[in-house]
Order: sequence, then structure tokens, then C-alpha cells
Amino acid sequence: MSDFRQSSTLISPTLDVMQSTTTFRIHPLTADQASHHRLAGGEIYIADSKPGYPCRRCLRDAEIGEELILVSHDPFERDSPYRSASPIFLHREECGNVVTETNVSGTHALPEQLTCRQLSVRAFDANAMMVDAAVIDGSVLATTIERLFGNDDARQLHIHNAGRGCWATTISRCP
Ligand SMILES: [Zn+2]
Repeated sequence: MSDFRQSSTLISPTLDVMQSTTTFRIHPLTADQASHHRLAGGEIYIADSKPGYPCRRCLRDAEIGEELILVSHDPFERDSPYRSASPIFLHREECGNVVTETNVSGTHALPEQLTCRQLSVRAFDANAMMVDAAVIDGSVLATTIERLFGNDDARQLHIHNAGRGCWATTISRCP
């Protein structure tokens, strides 16, 4: 039985901000970060449902039967009062690259792993201080990104599963 099973339905992102030009980049675990976690090891899970086991390296939910590890990951790049580590799943073996650059009106959809869940989206400035935050349905993630990046101080968005607090990914504004 998965501790992280989700009951939400699968919903595509609503790309209804068609005049936006904000381009942003999604930062899943890097290959080095994933290797570090895999070498350090963690609790091993075998996916018994889908969705339910979201891998933070490839940004897809594991297929039933795939092996994952549950580890603690700190997404911060500098010290901050907000700095903390969060639980994350990742595939036990290397699982490949993902599309990491998109925009709210463009050709790439946000990963379904994000848009099908309730999310907490926290905006941080260049000093890793929180400047805004929202709890949303993932179906409105695109418009939420647009709104939060409307604040020029917002440099990065940290996205977590709203319920269990798992770090999902970090999003930065493209220069
Ligand atoms: Zn993966």
C-alpha cells in the first residue's frame, strides 16, 4: 500500500493565458543529485498503483512494478530560514531526461505529475526568502506560475505536494 497514493483525477493544465511571454525552466533532480541519493540509499518501494509514486528525476509517475527509493532532498541552493529537506521518490535506476523548459502559452505542457495533484507553490527571491505562496489545484499551475512571476522579486518557485509535503520540482524564470 502506498503512503503517497493520490486520489486526484488526471487533469490537463489550463493554458488560458495566451498572451503571456513568460518562459520558465523546470529543474527536476539532476543526474548528479539522483546518483547521490541512489548511492546513499533509502527505503525501497515497488509501485503498486499509478499515479502514486512520482519520480522527481524523470517527472513521471512510476509504472506499476517499477522500483523507487524514498529519500530526503533539500532543494535549496543557499542558506535561508526556510531551508528544509523534503521526502521524495525517485526511480532506483537512472530513468532519463525530461523536457525542462516551457512557457505558459507555448508548446510544451507541464508534466502531468504536477498538474494532477494539489500543490503548494512557494516563491523565493534571490536571497531564498519567501515572497509569496499559494495552495492550488495542479490544473491551474500554469496560471499560478505566471501570477507569481509577475512579482519581479520572485526568482524561483518551489513546488511541493500540498498534502504530504513532498518536494516536486523547482521552477526558475528564464533570463
Ligand atoms: Zn524516474
